[in-house]
Amino acid sequence: MIIDCHTHISCPGCEIKPEDHFAAAEPVDACIVLASPDQSSKQSNELVSKYVTKHSKKMFGFAVVNPVTDDISKRYWLSAKEDMGLKGAVLYCSGQAFHPAHSRALQFYEVAQSLKIPVFFHNAPPFTADAVLEYARPSLLDEIARQFADLKIIIGSMGLPFVNETLCMLARHENVFGDLTVNTQKVWEIYNTILAAHEAKVMHKLFFGSGLPFNKPQTCVETLLGFNKLLADTNLPTVPRESIRGIIERDTLQILGISP
Ligand SMILES: [Zn+2]
Repeated sequence: MIIDCHTHISCPGCEIKPEDHFAAAEPVDACIVLASPDQSSKQSNELVSKYVTKHSKKMFGFAVVNPVTDDISKRYWLSAKEDMGLKGAVLYCSGQAFHPAHSRALQFYEVAQSLKIPVFFHNAPPFTADAVLEYARPSLLDEIARQFADLKIIIGSMGLPFVNETLCMLARHENVFGDLTVNTQKVWEIYNTILAAHEAKVMHKLFFGSGLPFNKPQTCVETLLGFNKLLADTNLPTVPRESIRGIIERDTLQILGISP
């Protein structure tokens, strides 16, 4: 079973039709579809809800939330889960310029934890000039992971460019996971991220992701499986193939407590 934990059907600077998303997702068994901040949260969540409810066995939507401005009431999030079929939440702290531990964000995590809604922090490059890079730091999630020990937290794109902080978070907190969405064009970055995760003994905390539409899931799987081939004719350290395969075949939905 292959689960892609990081895909979009719309996003700033990208264009993909739902049918193209569905076709590109053909090689995987399930996808998490993250709503985007390219329009109002309400509109974006409705768009994702419409798509995932049409493919409820394969597509699992995460609703976008800006806790500072959006509805964070338990009533709204219960309805998002039960009526709109959205299984998690995604936050764009750097892009939407709010501190991940803002007082209203903390109120939101309380609600999310009580409803068993996992939260995905999408603070990945490329950052626009007005994004707040400081708010992308994975170490800012430490306080949240400690305060909400039952809240499942996913650090998007391994918290790039702050990968070392992400590795520290994964090693420290049982409830924190890393989205290994790799940019297949950046071979050296992939190599260093995976080797560092292996050395930090956190490979079991990584989820497979593609970042669709920026990468195709198929290409990402091939890149990961061909990882050690990158190192042919070098003396660079390798990572056991079964450990990499473990990421690709991880039952992310089950770990996050998500079911159709
Ligand atoms: Zn993304």
